[in-house]
Order: sequence, then structure tokens, then C-alpha cells
Amino acid sequence: MKTALKERKDLIMLPGPTNVPDRVMRAMTKPIINHRGPEFAALLKDIEENLKYAFQTKNDVYVLTSSGTGGVECAIGNIVNPSDKVIVPVFGVFSERMKEKVARRGGKAVEVPIEWEEAPTAEQIEQAVKKEKDAKAIAVVYNETSTGVTVRDLPKIGKIAKENDLIFMVDAISILGGDQLPIDEWGVDLCVTGSQKCLACPPGLALISVSPKAWEAVEKTAVRPYYFDLEQIREFAAKGATPFTPALPIFYALDEALQLIREEGLKERFRRHETCAKAFYKAIEAMKLKPYPNEKARSNTVIAINIPTGVDGEEFRKIMKERYKTVIAGGMGKLKASIFRIGCMGIISEAETLQTINALENTLMDMKYPVKTGTGIEAARKVFHS
Ligand code: PLP
Repeated sequence: MKTALKERKDLIMLPGPTNVPDRVMRAMTKPIINHRGPEFAALLKDIEENLKYAFQTKNDVYVLTSSGTGGVECAIGNIVNPSDKVIVPVFGVFSERMKEKVARRGGKAVEVPIEWEEAPTAEQIEQAVKKEKDAKAIAVVYNETSTGVTVRDLPKIGKIAKENDLIFMVDAISILGGDQLPIDEWGVDLCVTGSQKCLACPPGLALISVSPKAWEAVEKTAVRPYYFDLEQIREFAAKGATPFTPALPIFYALDEALQLIREEGLKERFRRHETCAKAFYKAIEAMKLKPYPNEKARSNTVIAINIPTGVDGEEFRKIMKERYKTVIAGGMGKLKASIFRIGCMGIISEAETLQTINALENTLMDMKYPVKTGTGIEAARKVFHS
């Protein structure tokens, strides 16, 4: 390929990391400052304020220099003691990981097995809570990135947790900032997200909110993790610092990304994600493809599609990237070779949605799949222009 063409940027339609606005990328070139000085304290204060807006919470919020996994490990590590029972609905790779993390803390993860095309329901969780009378917490992955499933019963599950005095822990890594999640209203005690998904920031930070009820449990945890000790993180935050060296450039980026969210407003942001997701699903249907999850469970931020029979998924994604400059993901775990996943996140708009649908459609045609030019685009356009 000619050098000039190689220089073009790919459209990153992965379910994270995702496309980052130039303004956010540029913020990372600001000079390094003393992370124990007043400038950093001011930066942290700004970030915390805007994070509370994004989380829709009055709870404490913290920025951790780690990927999302570290954030989930922090939440679990600070409240799960050996033999503590945690109810975990398992319906994909990330909820399996949640279960594993509880087990590695010496806790007892009580699995609620769910079909992967489905989301856990409030009734299923209620049954588990009735059976496991001595459980301490419920831990839910709100948006299963491995299957494109969103748990629409999350507010009801929060109510069950509250009524039964259980800690409600939520992995919202691939959804916070892209769909509804009013932390306080829904009673989420510990919520974790990652910088690289719906916040449209580069990867490298995890964000966590901690409710007063969660604090009570944290304070009683005998052996908290060393790097992720929430008590120590709180002490340092009160002085405008972090216990260990923060990844400064990504903090600058996060500050900018959160300002963009404030400028747009959450309501508009959620509406934008929802409209683009709707356009994707309509286009998929028109192209005679099938989303992986059942209709009611479909996510607005991660679109999972069954790979049609006879289509080689690896080859398909290679053509998408090399010919159409559009990068999508394959499946994970047992779905590795059977689904595609598209991130509908962050700065997603009509332009990115149509480019991706066009790339999907053309790649299908290149691979001799029977689809007519413009079928998907026409269905998607109706969503944007109706
Ligand atoms: N949980 C969910 C729901 C995710 O989507 C991801 C990443 O895709 C993670 C956890 C892990 O995050 P990270 O790869 O940033 O550690």
C-alpha cells in the first residue's frame, strides 16, 4: 500500500478502546506536574466533580491508575473477606471473571447461571437472595461486553439489594456514560467503569464510586489490597493526591473528556448512543444478519452479531480493516469464532454508524454473501432521518 494511504486513521469501532476526540488527545501533551502539589490537587478536584456528574452520584468517586479489571478487583478486594458470599449472575466472559475475582479473595461466589443470549432478571436474583440468606453482596456486570447484553432489570436488582441489606456492586465498564445509570437512584454501592469506553478517553484509568454503605463494609475488611486500599485512597484524595504515582497524561485526558460530557449533557449523550444502536440493529436486520442477544437484552453500547454460516470471521475483519479502514472485534470465550462485536460508544454518531454499516455491507458482498448494495444503509438512514 502507498505510504500516504497507510497514514489514514482507522475508525475504531471496538467495544473499547474507542475513538478519542482530538481535544482529549491533545490534553495529554500538557507538561508533567508535581503529583504532590497544588496543581494536581486542583486537577483531581475538577475530575471528581465532573465524575460525580457522569456517575449521577453524591457518593465518593476515585480515579485509579489501572485498567478496568483493576477497578473491579479494587471493589471486590475491599469488601470481600474469606468465605463471604457474593451472588454473581454469570452470562458471559466478564461476569465469569467477576466470579473468579470473588473466589480469588477467598470469597464464595454463588453463581446464578444465565443463558448468554439473555440478561439476568430481578426474579432470578430474588430467588438466589432467598436461598442464600447469609449473602453479603450482589455483583452484576451491567453490560456484558462479551455478548452485547444489558441488564435492564438493574434498578430492580438494586432494590432487592437494598431491601435485603446487601451491598450492590456493579461493573459498568462498557456502559457508564453511554446509557442510563443513576447510581444513587438505583442504589449502586460500588460502581466501576473504565476510561477507554463510553467516556471516550484513552485506556489506562479505572473509576470507582463508593457509597456510605460500602464504606461501612470496607472499614470492616481486615486485610484490604495494598495498591487498591480504598481507605488509603480516600485519605490521599482528601489531600488532593493519590497514594501512588498517577498516570498524569491520562488524568489530563480524562479531565477533558469529562468536560466534553458536561458540555453535551448526559441526556443528549444517552439519546445519541440509543439512536446509533437502533440504526445498527435496523441495518443488521435489513442485511439478514442476526444480533446475538435476544431482543429485550440488546445493548446500546455493544452490538453483537452472529457471524453468518460460511463466512470466515477473521477474513471478514481483515477486509473491514484493510479495505474499509473500519476495525471491529470478534467474539470472546466460547463465542470467539461465532460473533462480531461493534462498539457503539463515546463519540459515536451518524457518520461513524453509517461508515461501519457501509463497511459491513461491502465486506459481505466481497465475501459473496447475498446482500444488495445499500440495504443496511437505507434502514439505518430511516432511523436518523425519520
Ligand atoms: N468488565 C467489562 C464489562 C469489560 O467490558 C471489560 C473490558 O472490556 C473489563 C471488565 C476489563 O477491563 P480492562 O480490559 O480495561 O481491564
